[in-house]
Amino acid sequence: MQTNQTVSCPHCMNDVPWGASVCRGCHAEIAYGTPGAITIFFIVVSVAAGWYAAKLVHDHLSTNSTFLWIVFGVVLVLVGILSIKICKRLYKGRTWFRRIYRTK
Ligand SMILES: [Zn+2]
Repeated sequence: MQTNQTVSCPHCMNDVPWGASVCRGCHAEIAYGTPGAITIFFIVVSVAAGWYAAKLVHDHLSTNSTFLWIVFGVVLVLVGILSIKICKRLYKGRTWFRRIYRTK
């Protein structure tokens, strides 16, 4: 998709070809798409949503554990898929430069 694009490194202002994992100028590491911390956040949100849905069902509808697990799983997957879609929209084409300062 973005094969011919270049991104400029915020550390050394070098143009780096899209898809490269390391900046040629300053050797900063380049990551693409959704940052790991955001992914973890959405996993936690999905689990919390599933747990909350199961708790509501438990309190108001049924205490059948199999049914509660199904509710938990379905909500977790639904929120998870929704989160992935939101992330892909938010972070499409985003680049993250992380410079590692070497002692040598
Ligand atoms: Zn650089």
